[in-house]
Amino acid sequence: MSRSAAAAKPGSYDSTSLKNFLAGFERRNPQEPEFQQAVREVAHDVFPYLAEHSEFTDKLVFERMTEPDRIIVFRVSWEDDAGNMRINRGYRVQFNNSIGPYKGGLRFHASVNLSIIKFLAFEQTFKNSLTTLPLGAAKGGADFNPHGKSDAEIARFCKAFMTELHRFIGPNVDVPAGDIGVGGREIGYLFGQYKRLTGEFASGTITGKGLEYGGSLVRTEATGFGTVYFAEHMLNHRGDSLKGLRCCVSGAGNVALHCALKLSEMGAKVLTLSDSSGFIHDPDGFDRTKIEELHEIKFGKRASVGAYVKKHPKASFHAGKRPWGVKCDAAFPCATQNEISLDEAKKLVANGCQLVSEGANMPSEEKAMQLFRKKILFGPAKAANAGGVAVSGLEMSQNTMRLNWTEAELDSRLKEIMQDIHNQCLEYGGGGRRIDYVRGANLAGFVRVGRAMLAHGV
Ligand code: NDP
Repeated sequence: MSRSAAAAKPGSYDSTSLKNFLAGFERRNPQEPEFQQAVREVAHDVFPYLAEHSEFTDKLVFERMTEPDRIIVFRVSWEDDAGNMRINRGYRVQFNNSIGPYKGGLRFHASVNLSIIKFLAFEQTFKNSLTTLPLGAAKGGADFNPHGKSDAEIARFCKAFMTELHRFIGPNVDVPAGDIGVGGREIGYLFGQYKRLTGEFASGTITGKGLEYGGSLVRTEATGFGTVYFAEHMLNHRGDSLKGLRCCVSGAGNVALHCALKLSEMGAKVLTLSDSSGFIHDPDGFDRTKIEELHEIKFGKRASVGAYVKKHPKASFHAGKRPWGVKCDAAFPCATQNEISLDEAKKLVANGCQLVSEGANMPSEEKAMQLFRKKILFGPAKAANAGGVAVSGLEMSQNTMRLNWTEAELDSRLKEIMQDIHNQCLEYGGGGRRIDYVRGANLAGFVRVGRAMLAHGV
């Protein structure tokens, strides 16, 4: 169904038009619950803003922003170790390139479908805008389950995936990176295949690369570290700090482990970590040594977090459970979308949790988010976890200049970017007694991309 400016005249962005917009949006994107959830959340903040900013309305800027530029779906055929043919479905959703080349990670997980990739790419539009770097938005991946696959199978899958994807990406077109199931090993295989197919060493085509071939210091740590820096800014703003706080972290991947590491460096006590098998609770807290041990369990042995408790008798493993029932002052969901339900959010708040900073993308269910937003300090993913893509942007800059910045320089730039994102949230989310970081991130992200879209014309 086409949408026209006549249907959305300046000044008509009231609650009825929001309802009509959402009804039409859901009709056009049926059976895509994650994508609907992500757009609904942003629309509730953007519509009241549009009612007072007619410069965006007659060109249907927000309506255009909720429709991807293009969606690429492809077959990935590969052979397993036993010689069987396997087929997966690959995706790349190029959402918006108004402020820079498409940019966003690749996810390899059995649950991947179009709804998940579209929600991630939509969120990326706002997140990349908040970094203030010239980064458009995309996301991709495949319904490939890396669990239990041999290294040779991972390599063959990555090769087959890139054989299809390579024609759609490039340093000035679309720049993928990692996400769930795509870490340093997979990026290496993907980049190697891109190089073989194109005959070019175009290092700016992928970020998250190894340091030996164009990667950036601090990229691996950036998402987790940035989530903690953002939490510290939220606390500092009201005269508190992370020091001494008891924290629950979920996940045991790239984001979670670096989030836990930075929390422990900043004097907080990390009580939990988790993976898809359950969560571990160490009442003494996870310090650098214990986090390195977990890194070896997850990325060296490729085992589950339960293995940790064998060497740590005071720690406990809770199979099939999430960590949100453990009493804490702050929570850092760093595993996956919708991993905090409304009941779990209520439990966190009742137990005295005063802050949630989202390392994962959309980890709080819609009603859980609404509760956090009302009751406690809440750093939404598009602001709190933007440090990863920000340092990816810095990796691209270093690739273009063919030089490498130092760790200290990159960490300081990351800190500046997280501070700047916090400032943007204050600017657009202030006004009341409590800063609304969700509204702040949504509006600040929207305005920059929206102005670029207007400047480019239709
Ligand atoms: P990893 O693959 O390194 O780690 C993911 C972790 O989450 C693993 O411990 C995994 O457990 C767990 N997990 C995944 N799915 C589920 C599930 N359905 N239930 C319970 N646990 C689950 O990914 P990342 O750390 O890179 O990504 C984590 C989150 O952070 C994602 O939401 C991602 O989109 C987001 N993010 C990542 C960025 C990055 O730079 N990497 C940037 C910005 C956001 P198991 O090992 O058992 O599968």
